Amino acid sequence: MCRNETVRAVPPETLQRAIEHQGGRCLYCGCEMILPDDMPAKNSPAMERLARELGIEPFSSRWQERVKYHRATAEHLVPHSQGGSDEPGNISAACAFCNSRRGHLPINEARAEIEELIRQGKHPCIRT
Ligand SMILES: [Zn+2]
Repeated sequence: MCRNETVRAVPPETLQRAIEHQGGRCLYCGCEMILPDDMPAKNSPAMERLARELGIEPFSSRWQERVKYHRATAEHLVPHSQGGSDEPGNISAACAFCNSRRGHLPINEARAEIEELIRQGKHPCIRT
């Protein structure tokens, strides 16, 4: 997994455009994504407010970690490893959790795996 490398390579405005194009929702799980720049500081009142907005009870188990899974990340439709570019046409936006779960899977397999996690109640962004 080369997530950090990926995030550096994609211009922020490309990610922003993908997020807007998707109505702010994750490509895979459909959760509401938070722009990296809008992620509040740890233990701040803004973090508590954001948690409530996302339906996460502040100070419950791992609540800030769960908020951070909503962070928007750039997702390469064709991965770098298969010659995919950083051009806008190859970039979608996915939440940090889904991005970390994708690994090197093709989009459709990643989607199936994430849908299975949601069914099992194991996706931290989605309450079933
Ligand atoms: Zn997601």
